[in-house]
Amino acid sequence: MPQRPYIVGNWKMHGTRAMLSEARAIDRAAQRHMKVEVAIAPPYTLIHPVHREAKQIAVGAQDCHHEDGGAHTGDISAAMIADAGGKFVILGHSERRQNHGESDELVRRKAEAALKAGLRVILCCGESEEIREAGKATEFVTGQLKASLPEFDEGDEAIFEKLTVAYEPIWAIGTGKTATTEDIAEMHGEIRKLLVSLYGEEQGREIRILYGGSVKPENAADILSTPEVGGALVGGASLTADSFMGIALAAAESEEA
Ligand code: PEP
Repeated sequence: MPQRPYIVGNWKMHGTRAMLSEARAIDRAAQRHMKVEVAIAPPYTLIHPVHREAKQIAVGAQDCHHEDGGAHTGDISAAMIADAGGKFVILGHSERRQNHGESDELVRRKAEAALKAGLRVILCCGESEEIREAGKATEFVTGQLKASLPEFDEGDEAIFEKLTVAYEPIWAIGTGKTATTEDIAEMHGEIRKLLVSLYGEEQGREIRILYGGSVKPENAADILSTPEVGGALVGGASLTADSFMGIALAAAESEEA
């Protein structure tokens, strides 16, 4: 069965309880667009409140620790996220990689911990402007992704449905610049080739690949109808129900087209 487009909001470090009204509005609108899978990753402090109220959307986290528990002041484990009602976690976002020095190896360990705790994983990858200008974007992104993908037991078929990749060129995040649909198609095609070469034709095609980087209602239709784009990871435009659901609506319409 073809998967529904997956539209995920990354609220980053935005949102106090006052933002719950926005989450409610997103949830109500999502109930009218069942052809699209809508989810939000608010700050940790809002995971449980959103989970308690949401009827349709899934709530998740923006990071987790790679261990189950222990002396890690300020950190949150995957099991704690699940306990708060989180269903997924975004891992390896470029802001984590840059601001917290997260290596591919650490991202991989986090992904393994998250899957073990029963969470779905959105694994981010993407190149800087310098790398793209040097003509090394494909090599960098596929290398980064390969090294960040979780290891799992052979035969654990459920993993493929739980894993999503998000391609987010760093230079397009929060800048208003988006990659061209040609560049997106090319990179998503390369990522798909990598997934198929690692996991085989059937499983390698089961993993959705999202695009992220300045997606908004105005450009969503073009991006979401690009080959191999299974949805969007949305930062700034996910902070209001109006703009976020504008993107979800474009996804619903691209399904009908
Ligand atoms: C992001 O941070 O994942 C992102 C894509 O941000 P924005 O949509 O604001 O570019």
